[in-house]
Formats: sequence, structure tokens, C-alpha cells
Amino acid sequence: MFKMNFVIKVLLASLFFAPAVFAQTPKKIKTIIVDAGHGGKDFGAHGGYEGGLNSYEKNVTLDISNKLVAELRKQLPDVKIVPTRTIDIYQSPPEKADIANENKGDLFICIHADAVNLQTGRRQVGSHQETRYHVKYTGKGKKKKKTSTPYTVTVPTYEYYKIGSQRSGTSIWLFAAHKTSEKLKAVMNNEDLQIESGTDSVYNDIDFDTPEGRIRAKIYADRYQKKSIKLATMVDEEVDKTDRTALGLNQRQKGIWVLQATNMPAILIETGFITNHDDERYLNSDKGQQELAECIARAVKRYKDDIDHTAAIAATAPKVPATNDTVEKYTERTKNILKRIDLKQSTFKVDLYDDGDIDGDIVSVYYNGKAVLSNKKLTDKPISLNLTADPDKTENELLIYAENEGDIPPNTALMIVTEGNTRTEVRIIADEKKNGVVLFTKK
Ligand SMILES: [Zn+2]
Repeated sequence: MFKMNFVIKVLLASLFFAPAVFAQTPKKIKTIIVDAGHGGKDFGAHGGYEGGLNSYEKNVTLDISNKLVAELRKQLPDVKIVPTRTIDIYQSPPEKADIANENKGDLFICIHADAVNLQTGRRQVGSHQETRYHVKYTGKGKKKKKTSTPYTVTVPTYEYYKIGSQRSGTSIWLFAAHKTSEKLKAVMNNEDLQIESGTDSVYNDIDFDTPEGRIRAKIYADRYQKKSIKLATMVDEEVDKTDRTALGLNQRQKGIWVLQATNMPAILIETGFITNHDDERYLNSDKGQQELAECIARAVKRYKDDIDHTAAIAATAPKVPATNDTVEKYTERTKNILKRIDLKQSTFKVDLYDDGDIDGDIVSVYYNGKAVLSNKKLTDKPISLNLTADPDKTENELLIYAENEGDIPPNTALMIVTEGNTRTEVRIIADEKKNGVVLFTKK
């Protein structure tokens, strides 16, 4: 009950503030939140199997998080690094999200450790004597009599134990990406037992099959999805450079609550399997913890450099006039025909916006081969073009050329075509290989 009220509150708050968020230009990374998963009475996963260290996820995540915070402060001295906790205390997911939001984080990194449900094994450790009875009945009716004759048997004595999992490696989770990565699928299929990964208690809190869930997912995807994927990809790449298995980017069918409750790009790193013999030792070792912290910090630094660079370019976007090249540059790329629109009259208006994130996408636009826009930065304010259909052509071509891909590739734009009272929306996608093309036909 509490949870649902909270979700609605966050939902309303973010809808209310939505215009302000959409209006922002790319900004530099100033604050990073590092969350050590679980804590206090919430122990998280447990390495409780034979030959295991009996360690708890909440302690491993705290150790890695503390090292990551130190590493980030060292590598990014001008960035404020805020840990959600530095000691063993309990925080509910809403509390963790509040810390991130109140500190106006530009990134939210959750540190967790994975687990699978463990199989139980048994082995014979000896034998013992048991008394059993031969039962015999004599007589009938009221005279029926039961006699039990005891005898002893030797039976094996068993010991039961949990079997550590085969599964190991580091995976990155997003609030809503696409699917389970091929790599993690492969690891899961080779496992002797078929249990879905992610027994972690941070999962399965958002149901997309509710109106709230759908709205949350949409808002989050528009604002933070691409950036979250970008950072997650970089972390995966850095892990892949070590001896550890990088299991790729993953998504749950249901959302990870804490990731979408934070108004910033967010990723969750399942650093390793606490139920796996080698992984558990790695996660509990200073060396392993430090290696993970350095990997994540390197990825964050790459991400920050990239975002800062784009923000700097966007701030000084060149406004050069159309080039007079005899061969226009767009001819070097293929055309991706996104839509055909039948015109009823010969004049129409085209408005162009950045689609979703305002991430510094810059475009040039050609109409019937002639430049009508050059090096324009897309924002949440429309760039308007009034166009006329060429009477000599059955098809008029509007071509969008991506001058860059913003800080979140590809270059995306929302095009709204207005003709009289008719309004048509087209999502434009362009990249360094393809131009986005809309054809206007006049009968
Ligand atoms: Zn966890």
C-alpha cells in the first residue's frame, strides 16, 4: 500500500516537472550517486552453500561501493560523489531513490551481487540401526488380534548440503532495455538447473501492465534510456577487458523499481554470483573489489568525458550557412524512407523537434535536393519550414542529414507535418550511414 502511494506521488511529481526536464540542454556530469545495495536487516543474497564463505550481499556491496566512491573521487576530482550508505544500515528503495533525487544526481549506480536458488545435494556419511516391525493379525471379528515383532535393520545416514552454482560473471541491468543478453542466456542454458537469474529482492517491483507502470516506463525511456544504455555498455566493455566474464546488458520483464524512481540515468551492476565458489571469493577479496571499482570508475570516466564533450559542442553549435558544394554530402549516405504523405494541397508546414532527450542532435535538411536548413541544433522548440510541392514532381523529397548523433546515438527527431487541419507525426532517425527521408506525393 505504502509502495503504491509512493509510486503515484513520484509519478505525479515527475509529470508536473516534465516540461522543465525536457527543456534542458545537455549538461555536464556534476554529481554521481553510488548505491551499495541492501543493508541492515536486508541482507540480500547469501553464499550459503558447501565450500562457500557464508558471506552476505549487503557486506560485499558496501565494500565494493566504498572502493568505487574512493576511486571515482580520485579519477573525477571535480565531481561530487554521493554514496547512499557507507555503513551497514537499512534503507528502503524509496529512501535510496530520495537520496539520489535530493542530491540532484546526474548518474545513479547501484552495486549488487547475484544469486541463484541452490540445489540440495545429499551424501551418505555412515549408517545406523533402525527398529522396524513385522505386523500380523490373527482371529476374526471381536477376536481379531494384532502382534508386532520387532527387528533391526541397518540404514544409511545422509547429510544434506547446498550445491554452489555454476553461474558466474558480471551483468548490467537497466530499468527497461530490450531483453536478456545473449551471453547471459548462454550461461543460463549451460547451467545444470533452469532458474531465472535475478532472485535479487530489488527486482519485480514495477508492473508495466498497469496505467502507472506504462506511464513510468514511457517517461523514463524518453528521458534516460539511451544514456543508461550508453553507460551500461561502457561498464560491460571495461569488465570484458579483465579476466571476468562480462554477461552483457539485461532487462527484466518487470521493472527495477529503484532505477526508474531516480530522475537520472541509472544502472544496476550485478557484480558477480555470491552463490558461485570463485565469484564469492572474488567479491570478498580486496583485489576483486578493487578491480571491479576500477572497471566501473573507468567506464564512468569515459561516459562523463563523452557527455561533457557533447555538452560543450552543443553550447557552441556552429551556425554556418549552407555549403555550395557541387555534390551535396548527403549523397554519400543511403536513404531510409520513413514515410509517404499524400498531399491534398500544395503548401504545407514542417516542424522539427528533438525526439525525447534533448541531447544536442544537429541536422541539415534538404528539400528536393536543395539545402533548406544547415547545421541546426534540435531542441524542444520547433524549427519550422514552410514548403511547397513542386508541380512538376509526383514525389517531393525531404531529407534529414545527421551532422552528429548527439550524445545518444542515433540522431532522432520528431517531425510534425501540418497541412490545413491535418497533422501527421513522423519519427525521424538518421545516422552516419543513413539519411532519414519523408516523401510527399501530390496527385
Ligand atoms: Zn541485490
